[in-house]
Amino acid sequence: MEIIHLSAECYPIAKVGGLGDVVGALPKYQNKLGHVAKVVMPAYQTKFMQENEFEVVYDGWSKLGFHNFPVRIFREKTNKLGFDLYLVHISGLMDREKVYGYDDDTERFLAYQISVLDWICQWEHRPDVIHCHDHHTGLVPFMMAYCQQFRNISNVPTVLTIHNAQYQGQFGWDKLHYIPSFDLWKSGQLDWRGAINPLASAIKCSWRVTTVSPSYLDEISFRANGLEDLLAQERGKSVGILNGIDNDVWNPSADAMLEKQFSVKTVEAGKKANKAALCSVFNLDPEKPLYTFIGRLVGEKGADLLPDIFYNALHQANGDINVLVLGSGDPQVEGRLNHLKDVFPGNYNAYIGYNEQLSHQIYAGADFLLMPSRVEPCGLNQMYALRYGTIPIVRRIGGLKDTVIDIGDAGFGICHDQTSVWDVNHAMGRAYELYLDKKKVKEIRKFMMQLDHSWDNAAQQYIDLYQI
Ligand code: ADP
Repeated sequence: MEIIHLSAECYPIAKVGGLGDVVGALPKYQNKLGHVAKVVMPAYQTKFMQENEFEVVYDGWSKLGFHNFPVRIFREKTNKLGFDLYLVHISGLMDREKVYGYDDDTERFLAYQISVLDWICQWEHRPDVIHCHDHHTGLVPFMMAYCQQFRNISNVPTVLTIHNAQYQGQFGWDKLHYIPSFDLWKSGQLDWRGAINPLASAIKCSWRVTTVSPSYLDEISFRANGLEDLLAQERGKSVGILNGIDNDVWNPSADAMLEKQFSVKTVEAGKKANKAALCSVFNLDPEKPLYTFIGRLVGEKGADLLPDIFYNALHQANGDINVLVLGSGDPQVEGRLNHLKDVFPGNYNAYIGYNEQLSHQIYAGADFLLMPSRVEPCGLNQMYALRYGTIPIVRRIGGLKDTVIDIGDAGFGICHDQTSVWDVNHAMGRAYELYLDKKKVKEIRKFMMQLDHSWDNAAQQYIDLYQI
């Protein structure tokens, strides 16, 4: 099968969160199964763009509203990522440093989607499936189905994967003229509650919808930032497929970003060396249990509660624990997390920002990783933690519920029911008790590291789903 993945992110070219990890891995594993999976994404101004070799495969023109613009598509020459990578260059719109966060994001991602379809329409053959990821590519299924300009690919099946239903990309009807002409009777397929809503439109128009974990699919019928009714209505064509992790990138025995690589056999010595290195950089004591958090500092992740959670825990532990945070997001939360450095020097530290290498070092060096998420479509951090022998402390929700079993249920993690300061502090207390039982921790680490969360299984599930 020939599968075209359309996405705003793809690791290592551009990653903001889990979407980048998934799109950087799934196509590789689909190719390993004997298929031809390709990624077509915007050409941002990134290091990857400057450091790699490309060939031009397409030069054309597309139109956004009344504006014609030139499009150039590059292909990465070496196939070193394990899949064909195509980058869509639109001068002035896509060639920026950040992926998102600009006032004209609506125009940017629409121009990208229209350009990609214009290009695919000119191919001599048709792909077997177009797989869209999140709202940035959410108007593709509608445009393929209803825009005259794309009529010759209207029979190609489309699949939408919802990585996060909180973000929907909605914009006003005053921008309708951006969408190439279509039968206006079909306008309802774009609409959700009075706006053009790309995610809602993709849920309506895609041939199949997937979420990144089975539990998240159940949950979004009740909580999906306003799309609950629609998701419940389209449940028949929806399925939850748990994300995998890229075992080539996230492999503690070959991870060049670590102080010391380690395997299941050498986990104790390996974690000790990595913890010592981490603690020396962040002025922490390697003899104490190290609790960590990695992620976007937003409400979905429960980040607003972290300052109080850590204040209480550090205060009550009276110097017996360490905490290290890596994240960025809400400036107020960032400020409060920074402030704790002055309150608990030697026991607490934080790196406010994005740092891929440090994230690997923390997964390797930490004892515990906290994920007190309010919403967690899948969550990859807990799976990376498991692979690196770090015990996850998670709220029972979404993909966390699907991947972490509490030690009280003969499992390997610590689970709590609510995103509340009390619940998380209680869970941290349970973790402290566990930490004192060295034999048990050893057993758990070995067990966790052998759990199989690789993409092999999930990649096949997607292939089965494409046989529409
Ligand atoms: P989401 O996509 O909702 O942010 P996921 O758990 O699916 O959450 O994926 C998060 C990914 O982003 C993981 O690979 C995690 O290690 C990474 N990440 C998040 N914040 C940072 C950061 N500040 N520095 C480095 N990596 C980060």
